[in-house]
Amino acid sequence: MNHHPIFSEMASAAIHAAQSDLGQNAHLVPVYATSTFTFDNARQGMDRFSGAAPGYIYSRFGNPTVTVAEELIAILEGFGMVQDNGQPLPLKAILHASGQAAMATLFLANIAAGDTVLTHYSLYGGTHEFLFDFLPKFGVKALIADLHQPESVAELLQQDRSIKMIHIESPANPSMRCVDIAAICKVAHDCGVKVSVDNTFATPYLQQPFRYGADFVFHSTTKFLNGHGTAIGGVLIGKDLPLMQKVNKTAKLLGGCANPFDTFLLIQGVKTLELRMKQHCSNAIQVAEFLHTHPAVSIVNFNGLPSHPDYELSARQMRHPGAVMSFELKDGFEAAVRFIDRLQMCLRAVSVGTLDTLVSHPASMTHSGMKKEDREKAGISDGLIRMSVGLESVGDIIRDLEQALI
Ligand SMILES: *Cc1c(COP(=O)(O)O)cnc(C)c1O
Repeated sequence: MNHHPIFSEMASAAIHAAQSDLGQNAHLVPVYATSTFTFDNARQGMDRFSGAAPGYIYSRFGNPTVTVAEELIAILEGFGMVQDNGQPLPLKAILHASGQAAMATLFLANIAAGDTVLTHYSLYGGTHEFLFDFLPKFGVKALIADLHQPESVAELLQQDRSIKMIHIESPANPSMRCVDIAAICKVAHDCGVKVSVDNTFATPYLQQPFRYGADFVFHSTTKFLNGHGTAIGGVLIGKDLPLMQKVNKTAKLLGGCANPFDTFLLIQGVKTLELRMKQHCSNAIQVAEFLHTHPAVSIVNFNGLPSHPDYELSARQMRHPGAVMSFELKDGFEAAVRFIDRLQMCLRAVSVGTLDTLVSHPASMTHSGMKKEDREKAGISDGLIRMSVGLESVGDIIRDLEQALI
C-alpha cells in the first residue's frame, strides 16, 4: 500500500488506501485476531527481532489490521505534501488503544525530568489533567501561555530553556480558539523546541498541521476519524522517522496498543471521512447561525462565525471550521440544565464526531476534573453547553434546539 498517483482527492485515498492485499483477496481488511505470529524456524525469529527480516512478531509490537489503519491515517495526514525530491512526505503513525494512550506515548517519549511543556488554556480535559496533575509527579513541568502572541512565545522560549515541547489543540475544546500553527512552529524550531498538534476536532480533511511545520500530530480516533462512535482509539503521527522508531519503543513499553477489532471499525469509518465532514460542517454553520441570533443565547463559540476571535485564522488554516461548538444561555446553569433535559432528538452524551448530534455540559462532565478557577480561565462557565453537530437533517436539529430553548 502506498501513495497512489491516481488519488488526486482525499476521498479516493481514504477509500482505496485501506484496500491492502493481505493475501486472500479479501475486499475488506480482515481482523487479525491473533496475539502472536509464528516463525518458520529459529533463524527467522531472530531476524524478525533484530529487524533483519520483515514480519510480525507479537500483536503489542504490530498487527496487520493495525498497520493498515496506521498507513491509511498517515497517508491522509500527509495527503498532497511532497518532500524536496518530489516524493510524497513519508509519515509514521502509531495507533493506540485510546487518545489518552497516544497522549502518554507522545509526552513520555519526548520529555524527561526537568523539561517543561508549554501549552494554552482550553485543552481537552484529559490532556490538561495529564500535563498538570500527572506529569509533575515525574519532574516535568507544564506551563500555560497565550499562544496567540508568537513574539512573546519566542521571548519565553529564549528565557526558559527547559521548554522542550509546545502542545497545541486547534480548534481547542470547547472554546474553539485556534492557534496559528505555522507561526508557533517557526518560533519553536528557532529554539529547537518540538511542536505537537491535537488535530482531533479538525481531522486531516479540514487541517493538515504538517503543512505548517508540526513535528507530531495527535488524534483521538474515537471522534471524527471513526465517526460512528463504535470504538475508542488514538493515533500519534510523526515525520522524523528515526525519532518515530524511538517513540514506537515507548509505545510498546507503555502497552496501550490498538486492538484489531476496534481498528477494523476505525478503517470502515475513515473511508467516509470526507463525505461526513462536508455534511457535518454544512450542518454546523447553519446551527451556529441559528443559535447566534436566538434571544436565549448569550454567546456562541464557533470559529465559523465572524464574531469568533479566530474566525480569520481558522479560515486561513482550515478548509471549513468543523462541527463542534459551545454556547452559553443567558439564564446560566439552570437554563442549561432545562435545555439539556428538553432535547428530544439530539443526544445527551459526551464525546464528539459521531453521526448523531451530541450535547454535553463541560463544567460537570468532561472538564469536572479541572479546578473551577482553571475552568473559568478556559472559558468554561457553569452555564456552557457543548455540542457536536451530527449528520441528521439540519432542519430537524434546529427544530429540536428551538423547542428545547423555550
Ligand atoms: C477525546 C479527546 C481526547 C482523548 O481521547 P480518548 O480517545 O478519549 O482517549 C484528546 N483530545 C481531544 C481533543 C479529544 O476530543
